[in-house]
Amino acid sequence: INSGNGKTHNFKVVLLGEGCVGKTSLVLRYVEDKFNSNHISTVQASFLSKKVNIEGNRINLAIWDTAGQEQFHALGPLYYRSSNGAVLVYDITDEKSFQRIKIWVKELRKMLGVDICLVIVGNKTDLESDRHVSLEEAESYAEKVGALHFQTSAKLNEGVEAMFYALTQKMLEKT
Ligand code: GDP
Ligand code: MG
Repeated sequence: INSGNGKTHNFKVVLLGEGCVGKTSLVLRYVEDKFNSNHISTVQASFLSKKVNIEGNRINLAIWDTAGQEQFHALGPLYYRSSNGAVLVYDITDEKSFQRIKIWVKELRKMLGVDICLVIVGNKTDLESDRHVSLEEAESYAEKVGALHFQTSAKLNEGVEAMFYALTQKMLEKT
């Protein structure tokens, strides 16, 4: 028996991570199947919507992207308030961007507790030859903090759909 049959859920998902790791690219790839090789300034909308169906559940994702405030360390609780899930993005070629994720995990766990579903995402796998964050290190960290871990390339459209799907499934399990 699937008790979730026919239900509609509205989930808020926030993107977090350093500037230029590919947050906006991941959202645009997922929602509009587009990729742009330039840095995309996010001034259009505060969030993009995506409908997902999982086993009879209709899910409306509101995916919040930053408008670049992360560069001024000015993303606060107003942004991630009442989120069901967070996508914490680092760039596999940039060790510093991975260390930054750890600060976000601490802050989210402190402010939102275990209720928020976390997925840590190593983006830009097409730049493998320039990798500076090992898969093992990232996976073991994610496991330690109870987060999912995925690697993606927004550019090549690898792992993006699977990552958002797994996060959505996890949020659904929490309802
Ligand atoms: P944000 O600041 O985190 O939102 O990052 P953007 O989405 O604006 O991307 C920053 C830069 O990284 C842009 O030049 C993108 O084209 C590039 N980028 C994003 N994703 C990928 C990827 O998967 N592979 C490569 N090679 N470049 C990427
Ligand atoms: Mg952006």
